[in-house]
Amino acid sequence: MGKILVIAEHRDGKLSDGTKELCKVAKEMAEMSGNTAAAAVFSADDAIAKEVSKYIPEVLSGVDAKLAQYTADGYSQAAKSVIEAGDVAGVVISHGYDGVDFAAQVAMSIGAGIVSGINKVEFSDGKFVFTRNIYNGKLQEQRSVKTDKFVVTVEKGAWDKEAAGSEGTITSVDVAVGDVRTTVKEVIETTKGAVDISQAKLIVAGGRGTKDAEKYQATVVALAQKLKGEYGASRAVVDAGWTDHARQIGQSGKTVAPDLYIGLGLSGAIQHVAGMKGAKCIVAVNKDPEAPIFNIATYGIVGDLFEVVPAMIEALDS
Ligand SMILES: Cc1cc2nc3c(=O)[nH]c(=O)nc-3n(C[C@H](O)[C@H](O)[C@H](O)COP(=O)(O)OP(=O)(O)OC[C@H]3O[C@@H](n4cnc5c(N)ncnc54)[C@H](O)[C@@H]3O)c2cc1C
Repeated sequence: MGKILVIAEHRDGKLSDGTKELCKVAKEMAEMSGNTAAAAVFSADDAIAKEVSKYIPEVLSGVDAKLAQYTADGYSQAAKSVIEAGDVAGVVISHGYDGVDFAAQVAMSIGAGIVSGINKVEFSDGKFVFTRNIYNGKLQEQRSVKTDKFVVTVEKGAWDKEAAGSEGTITSVDVAVGDVRTTVKEVIETTKGAVDISQAKLIVAGGRGTKDAEKYQATVVALAQKLKGEYGASRAVVDAGWTDHARQIGQSGKTVAPDLYIGLGLSGAIQHVAGMKGAKCIVAVNKDPEAPIFNIATYGIVGDLFEVVPAMIEALDS
């Protein structure tokens, strides 16, 4: 029996939502395999460790001035020392900018196999079997590692966030952080105040078929606001400047997994579908009955969105 170890992600004293998802995954994996769930928190103080302990029963807190800011060197060296000191079965890291930056370095340093971008886990014949999307989400594949330990990065939004509970145990651990070859000079927030649609439960997304910025507002944004959800867009809409990049869904945008996704006037290109095929219910409105979006839609409406959306809003009003 060993630990399924989450490496917590935080910035400016704030724990990421992705870490709460990792806690959920680690607990599920621990339960299916007879292991235990734990999290390692690397920081310059132990304030975040206390926060993480609300989501997972055991927290290992590694404190070092060199861990004040995330760096791949700092995190991978700290992770190596925690993994080697404790009984760790595998490591779970968020598939975000930081996670993909240092996960392979952790795997390499402990000689473990790595599977990146997983969205499902099963346990069969004493081994974890990880599922992930390949070819921009057109196919899925299942992978296991041959090594004793494993490292996985977990797709954002593929699991729900763990709910906060009572605080678990926090143990201080020594982290041997030596040479850190990079220095974070400044973190520039390019989408200040922008919403994180990856966590939204309801998304209305619009494509090029919404015609222009004004009509995108009058249909996609209006319907999203009426349903108290978020609005998103295809890349065509973002490239045209009708909304900002923080709302782009797809391969080069956000991965979302809402309970309800309503797609208006978008074709369903694989690069878009890669970011939203995890939605529980997909409603598509497109005037072309052959549009690929209908291949993955739960409900399809073949029609002109400029007639369908006002009818939807009218029905909601009544
Ligand atoms: C490397 C790479 C990365 C990419 N990353 C992304 C990404 O992250 N996200 C993304 O979305 N795309 C991405 N793309 C672009 C992608 O290939 C498509 O070009 C894009 O998704 C198309 O956007 P769309 O569906 O809005 O437009 P279109 O494909 O032009 O579709 C418009 C649809 O609107 C329908 N329509 C028109 N008028 C109406 C109407 N009145 N009522 C109802 N329906 C109507 C049409 O029938 C059509 O199906 C990427 C491409 C590349 C090469």
